[in-house]
Amino acid sequence: MSDTTATGTPAAQPGRTIETVPVTRVDSGHDLALTVHRLTGARPGPTLVAFGGVHGDEAMGPEEIRRFVSSVDPAELAGTIVAVPVANPYAYAAMSRFTPQDGLNLNRIFPGDRNGSVTEQLAAVLAEIMLQADYFVDFHSSGLYSTVEYSYIMDDGREMATSFGAGLLYHHEPYEGTSSAWAIKNGIASTVCELGGGGQLTDAFLDKAVRQGRNMLKGIGMLAGAPEAIVERQTVMTELVTLRPSKGGTMISHFTPDRLGEVIKGGTVLGEVVDPYTFETLEQLVAPYDSNILVLSREGYTRTAPGDYGFMVGNANTTTTVDELFGT
Ligand SMILES: [Zn+2]
Repeated sequence: MSDTTATGTPAAQPGRTIETVPVTRVDSGHDLALTVHRLTGARPGPTLVAFGGVHGDEAMGPEEIRRFVSSVDPAELAGTIVAVPVANPYAYAAMSRFTPQDGLNLNRIFPGDRNGSVTEQLAAVLAEIMLQADYFVDFHSSGLYSTVEYSYIMDDGREMATSFGAGLLYHHEPYEGTSSAWAIKNGIASTVCELGGGGQLTDAFLDKAVRQGRNMLKGIGMLAGAPEAIVERQTVMTELVTLRPSKGGTMISHFTPDRLGEVIKGGTVLGEVVDPYTFETLEQLVAPYDSNILVLSREGYTRTAPGDYGFMVGNANTTTTVDELFGT
């Protein structure tokens, strides 16, 4: 059999490569570049593009990508995995959601601008990398002090979200400027995995990312075998709210990350902000819906700034199922 594709270009040999994709020269004289891993499978198949570290304070993503990509043997793979483990190197170095050089949130400015600031240029290069994808997955987590678990289910990407197997899915119109919005605009099936963070239960979340990521590869035909049912039931949330403290201080959480997924009665105090100087209670964060599903929470005691992620809850009364969502 000839080792050429229909267009006459030689087919890539199965294996792993690491490529450095230049972004720009910054004012410190450093050359900013993205490190891109490419796994070429032994059999033809679709291309999955995976990002980690779009938000620099979400350290789980890069490690999840490292373990997930390392777990796949090119000999067992159909198609290609293109992975960018650290999508925003300066934000990763600063452990920040925002790029220090220009203060921008990379996940609000896709598809970026090749003539723009550092983050705008990063977005432009990442947006180009995404265009080779049939499937796109973005590995996020919570930040330094909170822990989260759910995945997005998009109109295009049902197999990804169901085979990845998070118990909680969220269906919504993605925010303008996110990688998901760019995927949708270009007809790329996608999901976003929100797994872990806050230094809590990290081993369990990292193991899950590998197991669920490999299951997703089965779901989209890149690994042999049928995807296993990871959870008994997947709940699709259609309303999700972030509760942010308006005051800074000490956050006392009454719902630690081991309780994620729990259904909580409306009006329950999820946590409170206490003044570490005077000891007074400054604010209470209260479950807003009649019935609430805990999606993001904090360990018992953390420092908090105004506007931080405090808790996230879904409305338990407006959930649906994957079958209902797709009318099947
Ligand atoms: Zn994120």
